[in-house]
Amino acid sequence: MNTFVSHLESALDGTRFEPGQVLGTHQERPLWVRYDLSAVGAAASPQEVAQRPAGLWKYRELLPLPFETEPVSLGEGPTPLVDCPRLARELGLRGRLTVKDESHLPAGSFKSRGMAVAVSMARELGLKRLAVPTAGNAGGALAAYAARAGLEAWVFMPADTPSINQIEAWLAGAKVVLVDGLINDCGRIVREHRERMGWFDMSTLREPYRLEGKKTMGLELAEQLGWQFPQVILYPAGGGTGLIGIWKAYEELRALGWLTNAAPPRLIACQSEGCSPIVRAFDAGERFAETFPKAHTMASGLRVPAAVGDFMMLDAIRVSDGAAVAGREGQIVPWMRRVASAEGLSICPETAVCFDVFERLLAAGSIEQDQHVVVFNTAAAQKYPEVFDLDLPRLAKGQAFDPSIAE
Ligand SMILES: *Cc1c(COP(=O)(O)O)cnc(C)c1O
Repeated sequence: MNTFVSHLESALDGTRFEPGQVLGTHQERPLWVRYDLSAVGAAASPQEVAQRPAGLWKYRELLPLPFETEPVSLGEGPTPLVDCPRLARELGLRGRLTVKDESHLPAGSFKSRGMAVAVSMARELGLKRLAVPTAGNAGGALAAYAARAGLEAWVFMPADTPSINQIEAWLAGAKVVLVDGLINDCGRIVREHRERMGWFDMSTLREPYRLEGKKTMGLELAEQLGWQFPQVILYPAGGGTGLIGIWKAYEELRALGWLTNAAPPRLIACQSEGCSPIVRAFDAGERFAETFPKAHTMASGLRVPAAVGDFMMLDAIRVSDGAAVAGREGQIVPWMRRVASAEGLSICPETAVCFDVFERLLAAGSIEQDQHVVVFNTAAAQKYPEVFDLDLPRLAKGQAFDPSIAE
C-alpha cells in the first residue's frame, strides 16, 4: 500500500504490527498508527499543504489511506474558528477566546472526521459489515459514511439516546438497535456477536483509524492559527479520541518541524460531574480509570463510564500540563443559552460543560487571563431537543402581543 504509514504500535507495550492488514486492538487496548515522518517531511511542506483544496484529506501524508484510493467523503471541513470577544469580556479573559465549531461537519458532529477515515480504510481493507456501539453521534456518522461507501452499518445505542441520533442512523439505512443500558453494554453486545454476525468492530479506539481522522482537528486548528497551537484547549472528553487525536497532531507536527511556535497546548479534558471517570483518575494520580458508577448526564456524548483509551487521555493531559475537570450538570442548559445569546453560536451540551469548566479555571487562576483559549464545539444544540423543557417560560404565547415583555 502506498502510504507513509511505517507500522502500527500497541499503545500499551509498543508491540509492532505491519500495516495493510485488518487490525483492532492488542491485549484489548488501542493501537497507534505510526508514520515515517522523515519521508513525510521530504514529500510535503506546510506551505504546500496550505495551498491544497480544503478539507481533512489535504493532510493525506499523515493519513493511512493509500494515495491511489479515493476517500469516502461527504466534504469534511475545514470547520470555522469563531472568535468570541463578547463572551471573553464577560468572563474576564483579556486574551482571546475562540470556538472551533465542529458542528459544521457532515452528520452535524466531529464524529464525521473519524468515520470518514475509518470507513475509507474499512472499505480499502475489504470489510463489508460495520458495527458500532455509540452514545449517539458516532452512530449517525457511521451510518452516513457506510451509506456513502455502500457498506452495511449496525448501530447499537442506549434506548434513551437523543432521538435525533436514532433518527439520523435509521434514515441512513443502518440497522439500529436500542439497548437497555449504556454504551459499554452496547459494546459488549458487539463483541459477543461479532464473529457470528461477521461484524467489524468500529468502536472508539478498538480500530486504529477513527483516531487518525480525529487527529485532523488538531492539524486543521494548527494550520488555521499559522501552524501553531493555542495556549489552552478545552475539549469535552468521553471516549477520548478527540483529545488524544489533538495531542497526536501536535506531536507529529512538532516532530516534522512544521510548527512556527512549538509550545504545546495545555489540554483540559472536560467531563460532566454525572460521568467523570477521567477526572477521578486524574485527581487520584492514576494512569487507568475505574468504571464510573451510575453514569448519568444530559451531555450524552460524555456518557462513557469506562474508556479503553483512558491511559492515553491521561498521558496526554499530564504531558501537556493540562487537567481533567468536571462541569456542573445543572449549568448545561444555561451555558448553551449564554453562548448562543452572546455570540450566536449553537453549542452542544458537551461543549456547555467545557464553558462551565473554563469559567471556574479562569476564576481560580489556573487559566491565565491573557491567554488564547480554544473551546471545541463538537456538535450543535439542534441535535439535543430532549435537554430542553420545550415549555420555555420566557417564550411569549398566544395571539395577542404584549409589549410589556420588553420590560
Ligand atoms: C462523542 C462526543 C464527544 C466525546 O468525544 P471523544 O472524542 O470520544 O472523547 C463529545 N461531544 C460530542 C457531541 C460527541 O458526540
